[in-house]
Amino acid sequence: MTDRPGTTDWVVHFSGFDPEQERLRETLCTLGNGYFATRGAAEEAQADATHYPGTYLAGGYNRLKTEIDGRSIESEDFVNMPNWLCLSFRPQDGEWFSPASYELLSYERQLNLQHAVLTRTFRVRDHQGRETTMSSRRLVSMADRHLAGIEMTLTAQNWSGPIQIRTALDGRTVNAGVKRYQQLNSQHLTPQETAAVGEDGIALLVKTNQSQLCVAQAARTQVFQNKKPVPLGRQTREEPGYIAQELTFEVKSGQAVTIEKVVTLYTSRDQATAECSAAAKHALGRTSRFSALRDRHTRAWLELWKTYDIVVEGRPRIQLLLRLHAFHLLQTVSSHTLDLDVSIPARGLHGEAYRGHIFWDELFIFPFFTPRTPALTRSLLLYRYRRLPQARRAAHQAGFQGAMYPWQSGSDGREESQVVHLNPSSGRWIPDHSSLQRHVSIAIAYNIWQYYQATGDQEFLTNYGAEMLLEIARFCASLTTYNQDLGRYEILGVMGPDEYHEQYPDTAQPGLNNNAYTNIMTVWTLQRALDVLDLLPPDEAKALQAQLDITQDDCTRWKDITRKMRVVFQANGIISQFEGFETLREFDWDGYQHKYRNIYRLDRILEAEGDSVDHYQAAKQADTLMLFYLLPVNEVAQLFQQLGYPLDQDTVQNNINYYYRRTSHGSTLSRVVHAWILARRNPQLSWQLFVEALESDVSDIQAGTTAEGIHTGVMAGTLDLIQRCYMGMEMRDEVVWFDPCLPKALSQGVSFRFQYRRCWFSIRATRQTIHVTFDSGRQPTAKIGICGRIHEVQQGEAREFSL
Ligand code: BGC
Repeated sequence: MTDRPGTTDWVVHFSGFDPEQERLRETLCTLGNGYFATRGAAEEAQADATHYPGTYLAGGYNRLKTEIDGRSIESEDFVNMPNWLCLSFRPQDGEWFSPASYELLSYERQLNLQHAVLTRTFRVRDHQGRETTMSSRRLVSMADRHLAGIEMTLTAQNWSGPIQIRTALDGRTVNAGVKRYQQLNSQHLTPQETAAVGEDGIALLVKTNQSQLCVAQAARTQVFQNKKPVPLGRQTREEPGYIAQELTFEVKSGQAVTIEKVVTLYTSRDQATAECSAAAKHALGRTSRFSALRDRHTRAWLELWKTYDIVVEGRPRIQLLLRLHAFHLLQTVSSHTLDLDVSIPARGLHGEAYRGHIFWDELFIFPFFTPRTPALTRSLLLYRYRRLPQARRAAHQAGFQGAMYPWQSGSDGREESQVVHLNPSSGRWIPDHSSLQRHVSIAIAYNIWQYYQATGDQEFLTNYGAEMLLEIARFCASLTTYNQDLGRYEILGVMGPDEYHEQYPDTAQPGLNNNAYTNIMTVWTLQRALDVLDLLPPDEAKALQAQLDITQDDCTRWKDITRKMRVVFQANGIISQFEGFETLREFDWDGYQHKYRNIYRLDRILEAEGDSVDHYQAAKQADTLMLFYLLPVNEVAQLFQQLGYPLDQDTVQNNINYYYRRTSHGSTLSRVVHAWILARRNPQLSWQLFVEALESDVSDIQAGTTAEGIHTGVMAGTLDLIQRCYMGMEMRDEVVWFDPCLPKALSQGVSFRFQYRRCWFSIRATRQTIHVTFDSGRQPTAKIGICGRIHEVQQGEAREFSL
């Protein structure tokens, strides 16, 4: 990506064609609308070593088995759906255009974030010296989730004669976007039907071979010159799973022709449709020209930006990247997601990494959506509610009570984590115990509570939230065992967020004991569960308790755990990430940094060396420190206090120093967490980590991972760092609080809009002042808290406060 002169903070510009960078650029240029998304692959590209066209549907999964090392591995994948982009040209007797077969005289791509349009322009020369310019614009409609389109303008620069256009729908796609998964069965689609539609259309129907999801696409391709249709010959070619048309017509030197391809996409899961193939064909008949499609799409995006743009003044690069992050999040979930039974895949709808699965990353993502479109968070939480029965079964099967949510969740809510994974550095398949991260259920409880705090949505709490929270609390309580000797509750055999450590060195038993994060957040969860019983009207609370069979004894035990949970400390007052962490060897950070440069995946490096990261005091990401990310310091201190462990400011600081030095940031989430924790303690380092997190996808700092999909957690995390951390926004007790600690780099001003309890506000802050406008809403007045003092603001009023 280049910051060229003239590049605005709304346009991402990619100059030249670099095969090495192509897959990364495809991910970054993905277009989507929350219902489906398509990677920014070139129109003519097919999957090969350089390109990887991919189209993914929200919730579009399929499960297959593969034999690996004599054992049958089952995995649910995020299916690469038919490629609708296919559009190429060739002058008569020439080769079909591809960057490899033509001489590239210029090659540019621009992603306009404001209008959500991807543009590609190039000038190329073929073997016969014929020069052609091409300019294409592409969109996936935010106005109508079933529509997408390409407009391609071709000009023969120094030649005249016949030209051929090939337009296709290609359902022969397989999942091949992630090298590590290549041994796994990847054939998910079965061809069902191909057909010509009317004069100028084609249609394709495929079905996933296990989940039986039908996906229909229809495309109309037309050619215009000076706004008039061009006379042309049209030939249709069909084979199973593929349909193409070849259009032949004459071009004259210097005269532009425009090819429009408008595409519809429907699935058998769509509501208010009888059959998706017919729906796609009928919709095609109703679609207008590309320009009208683009106008509606642009209007939809401009509306979205009014709500979602976070503006930082005087920092164009930071601004551009914040917008890029908001852009990709809004393409992953949008109002089109509201009635779908999905949540947010960790890698977006942008690639196949982590197979479209949903992790605890929701925790980092919801805070960006909740203060703007709370209905979205609610809808994504309902994805979890529908999988509550499955979570109950999982808890029961593992010998626990309540609801145990999976570490990786897909279609039906069963545990989708792999049982073995490939270490690309050693080529070995390694047992994977990551599903022992029981803290994922706690994250769901936390999200429910946060959503309720921000919205006061009593209906959600009564009908869904309370039930989930209570069941998660029951699960957490059942995880604990009482240690008679210590007079303390313990949680044994789990993993914390630091995924490097799966078990104690040289033992066969996976899991670790007394992970401080899990133990403390268990206490927090149990307290919130007890609070929820108080928050519900008494008869509803009673009814729910009866329905779930939560007895007074359960509540008494929960309370007891909140006073007697065990946290292990080192002799120096450091909270042990888990019992025994301090007995592990110190790691040679400098040595390994020197040897490998990129040591994010220390686990893989050490395994390939025949060693194990289990031996070392080395964390992939924030674990103990996550406590200070999720909860205010005084709340963490209070939790420790009630357990009989005093926690003063110095101890907190010592813990931050200790763990920061032992963390590789092998997950990009880690930078977000540390930037947050350090915002007031070490603003310079916080800003550095924030910028690294902001650059992590666009610069692909993990060398290759972004090509397989964006990181939605870090994208949302960076936006949230601006609004909740640096601006200090907190929604609590009917008041929206601000307590800014703007880094120097943001001193020129930060502004954004948000809603609280159905009232809309605009805010702008510098390091000296904060300016609040109560734009509109249901109530005449609202309470805004500035650095500890509450102010009443009238609707329509703008107020400025000195900081
Ligand atoms: C991180 C997890 C995260 C997952 C999906 C992993 O690399 O360690 O914390 O949930 O990626 O983003």
